[in-house]
Amino acid sequence: SFAYFDWITHHAEVRPDRIALIDLATQRRLTYRALDDRIDRLASHLASLGVGRGDRVAVLAANTTDTLEVQFACFRLGAIFVPLNVRLTVHELSFIVGDAAPLVLAHDSDFAAMAGDLQSKCGIAHLLQFGAPYEAALSAAPRLARAEAVTLDDVSTIMYTSGTTGKPKGAMITHLMTFINAVNLGIPAFITQRTVFLCVMPLFHTGGLNCYTNPVLHAGGTVILMRAFDPGETLRLIGDAGIGLTHFFGVPSIYQFMCQHPAFADTDLSRLQMAGVGGAPMPVPLLRIWQERGCTLVQGYGMTETSPAVMMLDSDDAARKAGSAGKPVLHADLKIVGPDGEPVAPGEMGELWVKGPNITPGYWNRPEANRTSFTDGWLHTGDAARVDGEGFYYIVDRTKDMYISGGENVYPAEVEDVLYQLPEIAEAAVIGAPDPQWGETGVAIIAVKTGHDLPEAKLHTHCRERLARFKCPQRVVFVEALPRNATGKVHKPTLRERFLVRET
Ligand code: ATP
Ligand code: MG
Repeated sequence: SFAYFDWITHHAEVRPDRIALIDLATQRRLTYRALDDRIDRLASHLASLGVGRGDRVAVLAANTTDTLEVQFACFRLGAIFVPLNVRLTVHELSFIVGDAAPLVLAHDSDFAAMAGDLQSKCGIAHLLQFGAPYEAALSAAPRLARAEAVTLDDVSTIMYTSGTTGKPKGAMITHLMTFINAVNLGIPAFITQRTVFLCVMPLFHTGGLNCYTNPVLHAGGTVILMRAFDPGETLRLIGDAGIGLTHFFGVPSIYQFMCQHPAFADTDLSRLQMAGVGGAPMPVPLLRIWQERGCTLVQGYGMTETSPAVMMLDSDDAARKAGSAGKPVLHADLKIVGPDGEPVAPGEMGELWVKGPNITPGYWNRPEANRTSFTDGWLHTGDAARVDGEGFYYIVDRTKDMYISGGENVYPAEVEDVLYQLPEIAEAAVIGAPDPQWGETGVAIIAVKTGHDLPEAKLHTHCRERLARFKCPQRVVFVEALPRNATGKVHKPTLRERFLVRET
C-alpha cells in the first residue's frame, strides 16, 4: 500500500510563506513553514507522552488552528485523531471518550472543567490545554526525529456522526479517504493554492473538517477559522474585498440564518467563487433567495462515513438544477436500490448505496452496525434518492424520517420545502404522528419570523393547493425555534419526544 504523503511538509517546502491558517479569534496567522514547524514539535511532544501508531488523541475545543495542528501531528505519528463535539454533555461525551479511549485529550480553556471530568470518568492519561501550557510544550519540544511510515489504508481519524437519528457512531476515516475527498471535492469546487476559505462549521464535524478545510490545505490554499458561526460577522467577511474570500460552505441552516440577518440585503455576495451547501435537505425557496442576491449555492451530498463527498453539482448546472445534489464525484460508485437490494428502474425512488475509495472501512467498536450497514462493500446511506433523465440526483429525505399516511409514503423534506415557500416561515419541520384512521399523519412544527403572523388556515390552504391530500400536515404547532444539533441540523428525535402525544 502507498505511504501517506504529508501535504503540510510539501507546501512548507514549495510555498513556505503562503498563509495556511488564520484564526479570527486570536488573529494568529500561520504560514505553511510555521505550521509545519509547530506540527512537528507537537508530534514530538505527543510522542514523548507515549503516543504512537494507532493511539488516539482527542480534541475538545471550539474552532482553532491548534485543533488542526493536532490532526496533522497525529497523521505524522500514525496516531488517530478524534475530534469531539463541544455541544454534548459530559454524560454524552463520556460515552464517546470511553469508546475511543484516547491517551491524550487536548482542549481549550473554555472546556477545561469538562476535560477534567472526562479525565477522571474515563481515565485519560494526559490532558493538554491550548494556550500557555500548549505553547510551552511546543517550545520545549525538539523537532520530530522521524515521521512514522504510515500507509493510506491506516485509520487517521475517528469522526463521530452528527447524532441526528440516534447515538453518534464513530466512523473510521483512513488517510486514503481524506486524500480521495480532497480530489473529489477539489476538482468540482475549484480548490487551488489561491483558494481563501472561511470555515464557520465546526471542525469536529465532517462539514467543517472536510468541506473544505482539509481539501484547501491539501491544495496549499488558506483557511480562515471562525470560532463559532456568527451570521453578521460571516456576511461582513464575505463582503470584504480586502479579505478576498473565494470559498464558503455551510449546512442549510447557516444560509437560512444569514438571509434573515439585516446585513444580508446590502452585502456583496458576488465575490464568492464557491458557496457550497449540503448536510441536510436544502429548501428550494432558500436557494432562490440567495440566487436573487447574486449568489448561486452549489449543493452536494455526503456523510461522515463517506469522507464526506458523494455527489456534487457542477456550478454551471447549479441555477438550472436547483434542488438537485448533482452527480457522483469523480471517485465514488453509487446505486439506488429497492428493499430487495436490487437497483430500481431509472427515475424511481429507492435507498442510495455508495461504494469506492471514499467509504469508511467501518464504525469503531460497532460490530452490529458494521454488519447491517454494508452489503458487498456497498454502504447503505439510509437516504432516499432518485435520478432524473439527465443523471442528476435528488436526495428526497432520510428513510428513517419517512412516514406512511393512508398507505402512502410521505417524505417530510418535500412537505417542508412547500412550507418554506410561505414568506412568514423562519423554520419548518414535519414529523409523522400516529393516527387511528390513517396510520400516521403529518405534524408541522413551525417557527414564524419575528414580526410576522401566520394564521394556521393560511398554512393549510397553501399546502392543500400544492400537495396531495395525504401529504398535508394535519396538525400545526408553533414554536420559538427548532431544536438543532451542533451541526445545525433539526433534531427530529427531540421533536418526536416533545410533540407526539402517545395515544393511551
Ligand atoms: P447520524 O448518522 O448520527 O444520525 P447524521 O446522519 O446527520 O447523524 P452526518 O454524517 O453529519 O450525520 O450527515 C449525513 C446525512 O446528512 C446524510 O445521510 C443525509 O441524511 C444528510 N444529507 C447530507 N447531504 C444532504 C443533502 N444534500 N440533502 C439532504 N440530506 C443531506
Ligand atoms: Mg448518518
